[in-house]
Amino acid sequence: AKEAGKNRYVHFRPEMHAALLARTQLTAGLRQSVELGQIAVHYQPVVSAGPDEVLQFEALVRWNWQGELMAPDNFITTAERSGMIREIGAEVLRRTCLELGPWLAGDPRRSVAVNVSGVQLQRRDFAEQVMDTIKSSGLDPRQLVLEVTESVFFDAHSHVIAQLETLRAAGIRVALDDFGTGYSSLGRLQELPVDIVKIDRSFVSMVVTGAEKLPILTSMIHMAKSLGLQVTAEGIETSAQARFLMEHHCDALQGFLFSRPRPATELEHALRTSVAG
Ligand code: C2E
Ligand code: CA
Ligand code: CA
Ligand code: CA
Repeated sequence: AKEAGKNRYVHFRPEMHAALLARTQLTAGLRQSVELGQIAVHYQPVVSAGPDEVLQFEALVRWNWQGELMAPDNFITTAERSGMIREIGAEVLRRTCLELGPWLAGDPRRSVAVNVSGVQLQRRDFAEQVMDTIKSSGLDPRQLVLEVTESVFFDAHSHVIAQLETLRAAGIRVALDDFGTGYSSLGRLQELPVDIVKIDRSFVSMVVTGAEKLPILTSMIHMAKSLGLQVTAEGIETSAQARFLMEHHCDALQGFLFSRPRPATELEHALRTSVAG
């Protein structure tokens, strides 16, 4: 009985109070940082296989907090819980259009991918906001890719899917991020309103020598390709992985082998990146 009683008051344990406090501070800090323009975006090149060229960057949010650059894994969940992810997501898109606008304008084949949380898609005016932002920055909708994870389709209300369809009808492409880590079967891919799949790093890391047989990885690529989807492999760290994935007909490769995400001012190096070297 004593144990049960203790458990019932689990909410009042001091360390939990501290965690709650930390979360509240994080939310307040984030809100202030969005207002002060302390949300930064780094860009990682996506290298096209074939004639290797950088035709895409993925935008990845960073938070300048108390003099340190914080990675998204430390604050995205909190931002989703508080709804702050909507302001952050809007700011990331605005900033990306601004910072990569000149590069995008140089070639219609160039594009930029921005991550979108399911929380953003739950707002009925999401599609309209995205369209407004790209219109006012002069970006061609065909140059924007929105990356979503499978979970978006699971708890999706019909208006979430409808918004993705509206955006796709306008020329924006949708990428299924972290492909292979969700619960749905490969067969379900056919039903999803997506144009691109991004094979998760956990599958790419199974390639060690490049000589192994990896039926799951190769069937993922094969399945996506046979549905007419573009395939990008993420988290490429070795040239054996790059070679393997090119030999298995991935369309594009992304990973530290080519470049880490960098601020827009340092992208010149990324543009010299190639599969060969
Ligand atoms: P993600 O969308 O799967 O992004 C790829 C993550 O893998 C990035 O981490 C990237 O820096 C990292 N990465 C890239 N290449 C390699 C590699 O070769 N090896 C390894 N070990 N890692 C690699 P990052 O920037 O810390 O982002 C983490 C996650 O945070 C992202 O995963 C995405 O889910 C989320 N995120 C980032 N930016 C945003 C954003 O603007 N909005 C939302 N909603 N989520 C974001
Ligand atoms: Ca992503
Ligand atoms: Ca991913
Ligand atoms: Ca991820």
